[in-house]
Amino acid sequence: MESLIRGNVLSHVPNGKQFCFPFVTGHWTSHSLGKQVLVAEPSVVPGRLCRDRPMDPVRVAVVGAGVMGLSTALCISKLVPGCSITVISDKFSPETTSDVAAGILIPHVYPDTPTHKQKQWFRETFDHLWAIANSADAREAAVHLVSGWQVYRSISTEVPFWADVVLGFRKMTEAELKKFPQHVFGHAFTTLKLEGSAYLPWLEKRVKESGAVTLTRRIEDLWELQPSFDIVVNCTGLGSRQLVGDLEIYPVKGQLLKVQAPWVKHFIRDGSGLTYIFPGVSNVILGGSRQSGDWNLTPDAEISRDILSRCCALEPSLHGAWDIKETVGLRPYRAGVRLQKELLARDGRRLPVVHHYGHGSGGFSMHWGTALEAARLLNECVQALRTPAPKPKI
Ligand SMILES: Cc1cc2nc3c(=O)[nH]c(=O)nc-3n(C[C@H](O)[C@H](O)[C@H](O)COP(=O)(O)OP(=O)(O)OC[C@H]3O[C@@H](n4cnc5c(N)ncnc54)[C@H](O)[C@@H]3O)c2cc1C
Repeated sequence: MESLIRGNVLSHVPNGKQFCFPFVTGHWTSHSLGKQVLVAEPSVVPGRLCRDRPMDPVRVAVVGAGVMGLSTALCISKLVPGCSITVISDKFSPETTSDVAAGILIPHVYPDTPTHKQKQWFRETFDHLWAIANSADAREAAVHLVSGWQVYRSISTEVPFWADVVLGFRKMTEAELKKFPQHVFGHAFTTLKLEGSAYLPWLEKRVKESGAVTLTRRIEDLWELQPSFDIVVNCTGLGSRQLVGDLEIYPVKGQLLKVQAPWVKHFIRDGSGLTYIFPGVSNVILGGSRQSGDWNLTPDAEISRDILSRCCALEPSLHGAWDIKETVGLRPYRAGVRLQKELLARDGRRLPVVHHYGHGSGGFSMHWGTALEAARLLNECVQALRTPAPKPKI
């Protein structure tokens, strides 16, 4: 079965979905693996298209619709004029890892990334979300300020790099520490929290308002997107292990409980990061667990009991929590976020790719900063496409 796609029209694709594919002329057809692929008309040749007609929109495919894919698509629409953007993903909210996250802004450290760069990403993300928290969109996006404590079993002189980005960072007082008889030291501060299952639809709505379109589809090989797109942004998180063969990325399974305990208003996090209580708009998140290399998405009842017992030790009032729901996600771990341009080439044809994935435990804390950087890398690719090839000297 083939479906014709022309210009800015709504078309039916073989999986029955309707979508708008702007500025593309082509058709869906089957390839040898039984998949449907988009084949552009011969007139659409990347590179040539832009050099011959410099004002044509540059066709950008963003693969992945977790927090990275959606925020990158939005940053591109704001920062890089003249692009038509299509977000392609096999899963959208509420089925991504980003929907599972606890959603607190407390950075995790990337050993391979300079601290000043991590601080810049965190500050940009904090400022972006704080603006939402201060706006009428706060309720819809489920973004809000939250104050609380990070507590330690030994005294630490280390000041985290993000201490002057969050609000009111200070050492806990003796009076505050009385609440935590197992702990001897702690920091108090105010940060931001969001709920992925609300923030992702909020982002997706803005992405669509910017003129971008979305398409539900699994990509087996980025080259499938050539020649229908001029540039691809890879935001597939853990999917990059298979999609681009990156063996540096691996899963760290995390289990959480979502409970009702509306009297809990302060966050509490053990300094090790393993046990935490994060109150949000619609529930309180209790965590957590870390199982490196585990791909199993089934919740473990024993781990749930352990999480509840550890959280009740920190906040005894949680014995009265109700409506306890278990949830599991796979953190896309890597020593450093991959933010990088790559030029794929086959048979004399080229496809520029911007990689943006590998945020591990800290994706929400960094997403807007890294998405801005991905948009800057994409802008460099766009400028290169728009630069006319030098004319040969006669
Ligand atoms: C239990 C848990 C708690 C967490 N808590 C926090 C927290 O409190 N604070 C924080 O900052 N971070 C937290 N994180 C981390 C955060 O959730 C991740 O870093 C972030 O969600 C990663 O986003 P992503 O968009 O890269 O990946 P994902 O959300 O996994 O999105 C990847 C997208 O790519 C698509 N995709 C993959 N492969 C393909 C393919 N071949 N073809 C088409 N589409 C494809 C997927 O369908 C999906 O849409 C937590 C994570 C977990 C699991």
